[in-house]
Amino acid sequence: MTQAPAALEVVNIHKQYGDVEVLKGISLTAQDGDVISIIGSSGSGKSTFLRCLNLLEHPSKGEIELRGESLALSADGKGGLRAVERRQLERMRARIGFVFQSFNLWPHKTILDNITLGQRQVLGRSKDEAIARAETLLKKVGLYEKRHAYPNQLSGGQQQRIAIARTLAMDPEVMLFDEPTSALDPELVNEVLTVMRDLADEGRTMLIVTHEMRFARDVSSQVMFLHQGRVEEYGPPDQVFGNPSSARCREFLSSHL
Ligand code: ADP
Ligand code: MG
Repeated sequence: MTQAPAALEVVNIHKQYGDVEVLKGISLTAQDGDVISIIGSSGSGKSTFLRCLNLLEHPSKGEIELRGESLALSADGKGGLRAVERRQLERMRARIGFVFQSFNLWPHKTILDNITLGQRQVLGRSKDEAIARAETLLKKVGLYEKRHAYPNQLSGGQQQRIAIARTLAMDPEVMLFDEPTSALDPELVNEVLTVMRDLADEGRTMLIVTHEMRFARDVSSQVMFLHQGRVEEYGPPDQVFGNPSSARCREFLSSHL
């Protein structure tokens, strides 16, 4: 029996800054519907790893495969790997959605424009199509009435929900979240986690860097604990949170729960 290719397959990612290796060979397989939380101390390489997956950072080594299609990479002569084809990279970036800690909305565009721009430029959707999709998603995240507002008229929690809607508008196969609630006032964290929990319940494939341990334990199918650029512990949440084999992981958890 041949197995269907994984939603995302990442093999042996290394990343070097100068002569410091911050990722020392990280591999991961996400099957459809997997929610993989990535936890670890500040500086352990979580953001760098996520950013390598859609080439916001250039890995120095490794392979990235999306549903069996491998991203063609070649050496850039400076120790990094670059996409061979701009077009393939653009398509991959639409298929692997990224949600940033700092939302990264376009400040001078309305919410509706923020959500329609990528759909039109990258997916080639018509204006009407893009607006219809944006409006559906704005209703989903509970912000339809804000469609003509500008980002700075919204709270951080609302901006992050918009950023999630913008990512969803591209119909990504995998979504990456880098500490999506870390920039928010505590009282705004839950509205974002609720949206993410709904996405998990819908069966979306997600990689989530987070310090929200209870959330990670609840929604994850797998949890990855990174330490100094290596996977130090990996497994289902009950194992990683309940009975980790790594002493460093235990230590980390005891200071974060
Ligand atoms: P985390 O997200 O887990 O806090 P990062 O991925 O941001 O960790 O960083 C991992 C390591 O890489 C840290 O030691 C950090 O200082 C280093 N690093 C990150 N970005 C750069 C950069 N642009 N240049 C040099 N070192 C960097
Ligand atoms: Mg980080």
